[in-house]
Amino acid sequence: MAAQDVAAQEGCLFCGIVAGDVPAEIVRIGRRVVAFRDINPQAPLHVLVIPRDHYDNAAALAAGDPEALAELVEVGADLAAGQTDSGAFRLVFNTGAETGQSVFHAHGHVLAGRRFSWPPG
Ligand code: 5GP
Ligand code: ZN
Repeated sequence: MAAQDVAAQEGCLFCGIVAGDVPAEIVRIGRRVVAFRDINPQAPLHVLVIPRDHYDNAAALAAGDPEALAELVEVGADLAAGQTDSGAFRLVFNTGAETGQSVFHAHGHVLAGRRFSWPPG
C-alpha cells in the first residue's frame, strides 16, 4: 500500500470531515473509523461510516486495512442495533461511478428504519 493512499487527500470531502475542517453530524468516533449522518438521508437512519485514512473505495480499504473494514461493519451494526427495534440494516458500498459512487473516499452507507426493496435501483 503506497503511502499516498492513506494520507489525507487534498480536496477530499471526507478527509475534511475526519480532520474536522468540514462540519458533519458525527455519531461515532472509533479507533479506525468515523460515522456521521448523510446530508441527504434515504432512510430514518442513514449514516456513512468511513475509515480515518483515505482509501478510494471499499475494495482498496479491504486490501489495505481489513481491520478498518471490519470495524466499519461493526460500527454500522451497532448503530442500527441502537436506533432500530429489529437491528436490521442495509450496508451499501457504491464502488465506481457507474454504481453511483460520488465521493471517492471509502464509505459504507448504513441504512435502516424502514423496509427496503430488492433488487436495488
Ligand atoms: P456515494 O454517492 O459516493 O455512494 O455517497 C456519497 C454520500 O455522501 C451521498 O449519500 C451524499 O448525500 C453524502 N454527502 C455528500 N456530501 C456530503 C456532506 O458534505 N456531508 C455529509 N454528511 N454527507 C454528504
Ligand atoms: Zn479522503
